[in-house]
Amino acid sequence: MTYDPSNIFARILRGEIPCKKHYEDEYVLAFHDIYPKAPTHILVIPKGSYTDIVDFGANATAEEIEALYRAVSKIAAEAGLQTAGFRTIANTGLNGGQEVPHFHIHLLGGKKLGPMLAE
Ligand code: 5GP
Repeated sequence: MTYDPSNIFARILRGEIPCKKHYEDEYVLAFHDIYPKAPTHILVIPKGSYTDIVDFGANATAEEIEALYRAVSKIAAEAGLQTAGFRTIANTGLNGGQEVPHFHIHLLGGKKLGPMLAE
């Protein structure tokens, strides 16, 4: 899939649309989901233009990949999710229900989450 630079997260990264920022470094931005599905619902995205987890794993640099996973760990610990547990989700493509075609990891927690998949 070709990367579409008009997607909403690309616009957030360019500062065209505001977000409730939670964390930022050279390679990563994390912000609160606009329609939270749990008491804590944070989206962690690379700053680079990758459509999904497959594109990211295949084409991102080692520095970008390391930064994203280190950010997920840091955010989970600092947001107090680690002790009680939480869930990470990376919806991918049509079957995965991905709505925004810029790779993102959902961090969900703050309550006991239901079954992994809706019936
Ligand atoms: P996906 O379905 O692609 O895995 O998840 C996209 C997520 O982005 C959804 O949970 C949706 O609520 C969130 N989202 C969509 N538009 C915006 C926006 O403009 N700002 C923020 N913060 N989140 C958004």
